[in-house]
Amino acid sequence: MAKVSSITGDDISAFLLDRGATEECATCGEKELQIVGDQVSTASLILVPNSNPMPADPASFPLAVVACRNCGVIRLHSIGAIATWKKALAAD
Ligand SMILES: [Zn+2]
Repeated sequence: MAKVSSITGDDISAFLLDRGATEECATCGEKELQIVGDQVSTASLILVPNSNPMPADPASFPLAVVACRNCGVIRLHSIGAIATWKKALAAD
């Protein structure tokens, strides 16, 4: 897998285009999708187990966040999947 930290906004755009995931917003029908973040920062979910007290080092799950500019609905894509796709492209 390519390094998750090496995935850029351009990679995310290329991945979505390659996989046909740039269709109109499923909520409002507009085609105004925006990748949230920039070339150096992406979003992550922090996975917190159901335990108390909170663990000191919860796992994280890096995500590409795509927002609709019209209605604001948020869509999430795994950065890991994008990294795997990028590595396969580089191997061709
Ligand atoms: Zn929308």
